[in-house]
Amino acid sequence: MRTDVAIIGGGVIGLSCAYFLSKEGYDVSVFDNNSSDLYHSCSWGSSGMIVPSHIVPLAAPGVIKQGLKWLLDPKSPFSIEFKPNWNMISWLLKFRSAANKKHVVKAANFLRQISLESRDIYKKLSDNMDFGFENNGILMICKKTELLAEEIEIAKMANELGMKSQTLNQSELAKVETGMKISSSGGVFYPLDAHLDPGKYLYALNKTLKEMQVKVFYETKVDTFARQNELLTSISTSKGTCSAKYFVLAAGSFSSNFAKQVGLKLPMMSGKGYSVTMKNPPKKPHIPSILVDSRIASTPFNDSWRVGGTMTVTENSAKINEKKLTAIRENVQNFYPEYHFEWTEALKPWVGLRPLSADGLPYIGSFAKCKNLVAATGHAMLGVSLAPITGKLVTDIIAKKPFDYEMQMLSPDRFN
Ligand SMILES: Cc1cc2nc3c(=O)[nH]c(=O)nc-3n(C[C@H](O)[C@H](O)[C@H](O)COP(=O)(O)OP(=O)(O)OC[C@H]3O[C@@H](n4cnc5c(N)ncnc54)[C@H](O)[C@@H]3O)c2cc1C
Repeated sequence: MRTDVAIIGGGVIGLSCAYFLSKEGYDVSVFDNNSSDLYHSCSWGSSGMIVPSHIVPLAAPGVIKQGLKWLLDPKSPFSIEFKPNWNMISWLLKFRSAANKKHVVKAANFLRQISLESRDIYKKLSDNMDFGFENNGILMICKKTELLAEEIEIAKMANELGMKSQTLNQSELAKVETGMKISSSGGVFYPLDAHLDPGKYLYALNKTLKEMQVKVFYETKVDTFARQNELLTSISTSKGTCSAKYFVLAAGSFSSNFAKQVGLKLPMMSGKGYSVTMKNPPKKPHIPSILVDSRIASTPFNDSWRVGGTMTVTENSAKINEKKLTAIRENVQNFYPEYHFEWTEALKPWVGLRPLSADGLPYIGSFAKCKNLVAATGHAMLGVSLAPITGKLVTDIIAKKPFDYEMQMLSPDRFN
């Protein structure tokens, strides 16, 4: 078959790219090896937070020191499934050198701008699609006072960039979160943040794409690329070959394998995380929250409550670590004393592999050595937040439109 744009991967990023490309008039085909519910993508079971407040990229000062401390604790939110191979070592070295103040300052304003635009696009999309979008803000809740002090510092930096925030002591927090009691020393409220139900978003987008005549091929594995000089010509999949003028690489944490196949470097690792979703629990919070001490995200949806977290740097292993799951449950109980273990005990945990770039910023752009291949990956903990803006930027790249942003920061070639 032939198409204008072939998209490899139909998670939240691939489908969002398909939507904007199709709106621009391109004939688009998406290929994904998942079934159509996309349960096994990284997108399905995520916490669904849209967080313009998260202006500090994953690679930031202090992260390495904290990460090393956490490595010693099997129940901590961070670990590494270390493999002594060059891929992992070189990624870790790149990550370490990006974790500096200069990078954070440069990235913060950029992340704020694209996140706010992304949230505004979600708002517009929610006029015609039902995916549980709510603009109720999010809470950063802390137990340790020193962590609260750090969060207040981050809030100050966010305020300077025009992001509203409100610092709350214990009793003020109880007035904002009225759904459940919280045990903490206080928190920071970001009213501009929002959330959605990721499974519902994928479903709604899928339905809309069908109406727009976009072809989405599920249970279709992309195996190889064919290349002629500096251009890709086709992909071969488990169901046949597809040639295209442009290719979008949106295969989540598997994207770097494809880049390597055509001789391109895209430093990536996977950040394994878990979530558990309680259907109609006896009680649930009203406001999505990050439980800062344990890095757990808690998101109330219309008829359910999802808790999730942990970051295990791995090379695409989705093996579940029971200790980390137990730690999530224990920490949820520490923060929400009214939560009971039985609410989640019998539930199947969901596991997702976050696509981690080497500096905490996504890779969005075409490769200098393969101009018709556009990267749309590496979003780490911000893939849901940044999906619509990624779709828009990828469309602008292919349509050769001018940008409002300094796209060099996102170039897939920035580590070459
Ligand atoms: C516990 C957890 C909580 C999170 N919470 C949030 C949050 O609150 N807010 C936020 O913004 N982000 C969050 N994230 C991060 C977010 O989920 C990811 O950044 C995002 O889902 C990445 O989307 P993607 O489309 O790039 O990857 P994916 O969703 O993984 O999609 C990639 C798709 O490509 C397919 N694919 C791979 N290889 C092939 C192949 N060879 N052929 C065909 N198809 C292929 C895969 O099957 C997959 O469906 C969270 C992640 C986790 C794990």
